[in-house]
Amino acid sequence: MKVIATKSQLKLFLNKHRHKNQSIGFVPTMGALHAGHLSLIQYSREQCDLTVCSIFVNPTQFNDSEDFKKYPRTIEADTLLLKEAGCDVLFVPDTEEMYNNTTPIHPDLQGLDRILEGEFRPGHFDGVVQIVYLLLQAVRPDYLFMGLKDYQQQLIVRKMIEAMDLPVQLKAMPILREPSGLAMSSRNTRLTAEQRHDSAVIYKILFLSAEAIRRGTDLKIVVDDASQELKKYECRLEYMAICDADSLKPISHYNPDIPTIILIAVWWGDVRLIDNMLV
Ligand code: AMP
Repeated sequence: MKVIATKSQLKLFLNKHRHKNQSIGFVPTMGALHAGHLSLIQYSREQCDLTVCSIFVNPTQFNDSEDFKKYPRTIEADTLLLKEAGCDVLFVPDTEEMYNNTTPIHPDLQGLDRILEGEFRPGHFDGVVQIVYLLLQAVRPDYLFMGLKDYQQQLIVRKMIEAMDLPVQLKAMPILREPSGLAMSSRNTRLTAEQRHDSAVIYKILFLSAEAIRRGTDLKIVVDDASQELKKYECRLEYMAICDADSLKPISHYNPDIPTIILIAVWWGDVRLIDNMLV
């Protein structure tokens, strides 16, 4: 696996492959890799000739400076995992390399960046859109692999790609979960053993809520029941929303013909967990 830290070296290296008509798959990450990230590498390897992974803890997408400071950084272990997973290129720029001489972009995201995660993490999606755009400029992949774990993020990146007419195809891949059902996340390493055990209830709630919605239960009751269940634990529900899966507009009645999604954000101690499930 080639490890590259600058955009110019990356361009030189990837151009050699591009000239041989090889397809490039790209998996952007913030490191502290787990099986969810590695599943994206696997999808890319299956579909592309060359797989590039980036590790960059992007400061501009953290609305909370403590969260940025505490974000787990495990570059040595990550490098080993990527080598074992058969990744071809690891791109590890620093902040200066990534942002020097760049101008911000402002694609029309049709308000998607201001609701749900955007409401509770102001500025978060501005940072996400900037960094994904800059990384796409640096890598120029044919395919971009992202996880449905960050459902709103992949919708927003899709909008950005459309709005800016970027020549890349986004593939959004399934959520990998721990055996308990807890969605894998780099932040899980910051949970105590007890919190990690308890927070599996998020999956249970999503699962039971999806069933209740399909049975025709009033959506307000579904959210109330979930909120009551969470009160049994030492956590704080930030939001639970039942939305149209394309527009993320909240729905008041379930229509089986319209793709519907439940999105949830819960604080467990000082760790914020998000998850979602399509109904
Ligand atoms: P992050 O390092 O958290 O920025 O995540 C990098 C990519 O991995 C994003 O596209 C995430 O959606 C994806 N990802 C994170 N956790 C999971 C998971 N449990 N299953 C699948 N993909 C994931």
